[in-house]
Amino acid sequence: MNTDARFDVVIVGAGPAGCMAAINLQAGFKVLLIDRLALPRNKSCAGILRPSAVRLLESYNPPEDIYAHPQTIGVTFFDWEIRRQYTLPYIYTNIDRNKFDGWLLGSAGQKPNVEVWEKTLFISVDDISDEPILTLRKDKSTIKVEAGIVIAADGANSRVRKSIGRTDQSFYFTLQEWIKPTGGHRITDFYGFIDERTCLYDWMVPKGDLIVVGGIYDKRENPVERLNHTKQRIGTELGIEGEVVEGPKGYPIIRLGSMDEIFLGAGKVLLSGEAAGFIDASICEGISYALRSGILCAQAINTSPDNPLKIYKKLTGAVRALAFLDLVKYTSFKPRWIRPLYYTFIPQIKTVRRLD
Ligand SMILES: Cc1cc2nc3c(=O)[nH]c(=O)nc-3n(C[C@H](O)[C@H](O)[C@H](O)COP(=O)(O)OP(=O)(O)OC[C@H]3O[C@@H](n4cnc5c(N)ncnc54)[C@H](O)[C@@H]3O)c2cc1C
Repeated sequence: MNTDARFDVVIVGAGPAGCMAAINLQAGFKVLLIDRLALPRNKSCAGILRPSAVRLLESYNPPEDIYAHPQTIGVTFFDWEIRRQYTLPYIYTNIDRNKFDGWLLGSAGQKPNVEVWEKTLFISVDDISDEPILTLRKDKSTIKVEAGIVIAADGANSRVRKSIGRTDQSFYFTLQEWIKPTGGHRITDFYGFIDERTCLYDWMVPKGDLIVVGGIYDKRENPVERLNHTKQRIGTELGIEGEVVEGPKGYPIIRLGSMDEIFLGAGKVLLSGEAAGFIDASICEGISYALRSGILCAQAINTSPDNPLKIYKKLTGAVRALAFLDLVKYTSFKPRWIRPLYYTFIPQIKTVRRLD
């Protein structure tokens, strides 16, 4: 078939998974990184990194400006349903997600072997066992690109995943707002909230003078009304109120229900990040998974360009084990009756306070 271009590796999606794959692919590969959006993009996110993600990034020398203030942040949950407050023993890192994504994209784009096409929509992929042919939409034209290998890093609702026959992912709908607190309120921790109406949890996180308030919802259950309900409750319970300066902004996030939904690829197509199903099912933390799986995709291709999927499956063993533990945490924590026991007996939980 006649095509418009050929690359050794085509990466669909310039989020953390796609950028990390591009950064780590050997210089000998001719790489194309595409995204449907204008780049750098602006993704709705709470911007909290777990310690393992921070350690992983150390060798990439992240610049100072990717961090938000306060840079390190504790995690406190308010379980209003059973009237308990508890603090997790982890210190997370607070980032400016736009600058973080911009830094990763810049690092990928400055590699001489990596070409970046923004505003380029992936439509479909054929011949995935042999020499994949991608159909893309760019500058109002449809083009065909041949690829040695395709990396699907197109996030939740991955079109690449669907294009190769996997339609088994389900989603939450997230909403986030940026508020300027009135009355001089300052928070220094990431606050999570659970009440009788919560789908997974809601949150509040400081970003300099502003606070991000958001939540994870079922799309059929009126997310806007749910977010407003949480804001009202934050006002009543904690006395924190503010003016909205941006949002609400919605974005899907995958709802991992079982390990069968983690799908690493087929033929010459490898999936990474949320497209593969990688997420911490208990809190929907996905950046560390996206970074790690993007790196592992690149390592698999560097090691075995003709048959990387086999190696990728091996390399991701530990990541899948972690996703399994996060899924177990989610399933065991969900029932209301178990949470008082959980708060009392799990040693990682630092403090438990009964709320009045
Ligand atoms: C509101 C919210 C808060 C979150 N908070 C946190 C947090 O605090 N900490 C954390 O670790 N995780 C958080 N996450 C999850 C985290 O954002 C994701 O797990 C992570 O970004 C996944 O990275 P990715 O590279 O797999 O996909 P993404 O970052 O989603 O990137 C996918 C890219 O693919 C592009 N794309 C999609 N379809 C196509 C197509 N057809 N053609 C071309 N390009 C396409 C998109 O434009 C996008 O740029 C949050 C998510 C949401 C929605």
